[in-house]
Amino acid sequence: MKTGYLIDMDGVIYREDQLIPGAADFVEALVASGVPFVFLTNNSAPTPEDLAVRLRHLGIPGLSSRHFYTSALNTADFLSETHPGCTAFVIGEGGLLAALHEQKIANDAIHPSYVVVGEVAASMEKLAKAHACIERGARLLATNPDNWCPVSNSETRPGAGATAAFLEASTGRRAYYLGKPNGYMFYRARRLLADMVGGAPDQIVMIGDTMETDIRGAVESGLYAYLVLSGSTQIESVGDYVYQPTRVLKSVADLIEEVKSGKPSNRLDSPVFTHAVVKRGRSGNRHQTDAEHPQKPRPRPPMTR
Ligand SMILES: [Mg+2]
Repeated sequence: MKTGYLIDMDGVIYREDQLIPGAADFVEALVASGVPFVFLTNNSAPTPEDLAVRLRHLGIPGLSSRHFYTSALNTADFLSETHPGCTAFVIGEGGLLAALHEQKIANDAIHPSYVVVGEVAASMEKLAKAHACIERGARLLATNPDNWCPVSNSETRPGAGATAAFLEASTGRRAYYLGKPNGYMFYRARRLLADMVGGAPDQIVMIGDTMETDIRGAVESGLYAYLVLSGSTQIESVGDYVYQPTRVLKSVADLIEEVKSGKPSNRLDSPVFTHAVVKRGRSGNRHQTDAEHPQKPRPRPPMTR
């Protein structure tokens, strides 16, 4: 059975400028086994080339731009497919501008079809211009719904969702949010995997650390959803969600042997549960709250709009 992987980056492959232990071996196992995979990120600021270089510096060499699909590419694909010839006023960084340029979507600060909101580059002046464009009839589109993004274990930065929320409040219009968990992001990512192997894989696994984006999107797209606890989600909070991951793993390191052997295990064999059983010296305890986790959840508003 041919499996394809969609893999979130922050909290799955690295945190800050540190690789998550086992991540390099995991990617190496995917490459060596000829398993198709695409990194799927909501960060619309970098280009795929930027991400390949970043991973190379972190210790994962040999990847090319075709291994990365960002919410910026998803936005450009969406606009070129649904509205050829449209124009956009853009609040965003290089990756978004490059993706729109690639799809020949022109910049327009006077009468754009869309205001497109990505990462970070919002200034009061740009927000005021975007507000005026929406008042003149432009539709509001955000590359992703993330209100905030992790910068480190203790720091965050505002995300595209927060900027879109500003414009929603000022104009009374609702934004449309691409990126995970939007089904169009997963639809396009599946097509990329299929192109890699000349046909759709038998099963597709999404690996992510965020319930609202990675896991929700995978569940709604009919994919296997593997939650890793190496990022933003504490295991104690998993039960709060209506949608649930297919499996819960400590990190991608738990998948290395599975990728090498090509034999997936089922959810109850998930290493995080096995670990909990071994550590407590008794069997049968498979409840999610049994796994130890060092950090307490930090009170804050939901990650996504
Ligand atoms: Mg993540």
